[in-house]
Amino acid sequence: MQPTVKLYEQDSFLRRFTACVLACEPEGDGWRAALDRTAFYPEGGGQPADTGTLGEVRVTHTWMKEGVIWHRLSAPLPVGEQVNGEIDWEPRLDHMEQHTGEHILSGTLHRLFGAENVGFHIGDPAVRMDTDIPLTPAQLAQAEARANAAVRADAPVRCWYPDPAELATLTYRSKKEIDGAVRLTDAGGADLCACCGTHLRTTGQVGLIKILSAQHYKGGMRLAVACGQRAQRAVADAWRDAEEAGVLLSAGPGRLREAVGHHVHNTETLHRRLAAVQQALGEAWGAGARPGQRTVFLCPDADSDTLRRLCLTVTARTGTLCAVLSPGGRGLSYVLHCPGGDARTAAQALNAAFDGRGGGRGELCQGSLGTTDFDAVQRFLLEQH
Ligand SMILES: [Zn+2]
Repeated sequence: MQPTVKLYEQDSFLRRFTACVLACEPEGDGWRAALDRTAFYPEGGGQPADTGTLGEVRVTHTWMKEGVIWHRLSAPLPVGEQVNGEIDWEPRLDHMEQHTGEHILSGTLHRLFGAENVGFHIGDPAVRMDTDIPLTPAQLAQAEARANAAVRADAPVRCWYPDPAELATLTYRSKKEIDGAVRLTDAGGADLCACCGTHLRTTGQVGLIKILSAQHYKGGMRLAVACGQRAQRAVADAWRDAEEAGVLLSAGPGRLREAVGHHVHNTETLHRRLAAVQQALGEAWGAGARPGQRTVFLCPDADSDTLRRLCLTVTARTGTLCAVLSPGGRGLSYVLHCPGGDARTAAQALNAAFDGRGGGRGELCQGSLGTTDFDAVQRFLLEQH
């Protein structure tokens, strides 16, 4: 079959076209059709396939094999007839914003730091870009600023097939070995790269390029990037998040780090004070008991770490079984400590008497009881002895 004429290479802003159906065959639970020409971009080079309609039929996927572009269809089309095609414009424009932005950023990273782009995928919600070398946050910030300066310069984006003589004089990035004629994309002077994708007309149409995150990956960096409308949304979302956090912290965006720093410091101070108060409480409980005396205490609003700490402080003085309970879980949470002995027998008896769950090993057991009656639990544990 003859190679499909790529209308998207001549005009990437072509949304509607007419073409002749050259072939239509069943495939899987649908159909596939080839046309003499198409504006549908086939999946490749990191850019997703276009979707849209041919006549009344939905095109759900597009791909190229041996120069022929195939359109996956939900119903068959009559071979030999003309058909009107229309691509879904919103996703295509988004792909062109991401793709053109990626050229500008990749070209900038290459020029500034010699970084090669070794992976590119327009995903959702972010574009993934992999570099072959590690980059510092300062380098990434510099590249982002330079790339956005190239956007604001609003220079033309040009795609063409240079003849071999011209090609030999040019230095360009190439993502992989290309068979056949090389198509070059000049992204307004910010990048020169062999590429088969669709691009915007000028760098200014990208609007904004934002690196959302960067992590070390296979000896280089894996970047999550948003361009165009995606970048605007990402910035708006992050700003709203910062404003809402700012309301909680009584500080606006720009002063959040300082406010969170204070908050962390205050929390650490509170933890230290709480631990000191708990220590004093445990020592006071222990001081009121005789060595060898079983003890049972109630502590309001305590987590299991606190219960354990209180219990160990008391048994350090009494040397025998201590239980500390707190309202929580299914009724009461408990910790039992029996220094040098076995707390499991007491824990099992407690669970059996008060619909409890939990256990432990040797000296220390913890669990929860299906009751809120502390007095009854206290009587039970003291009478058990
Ligand atoms: Zn491209």
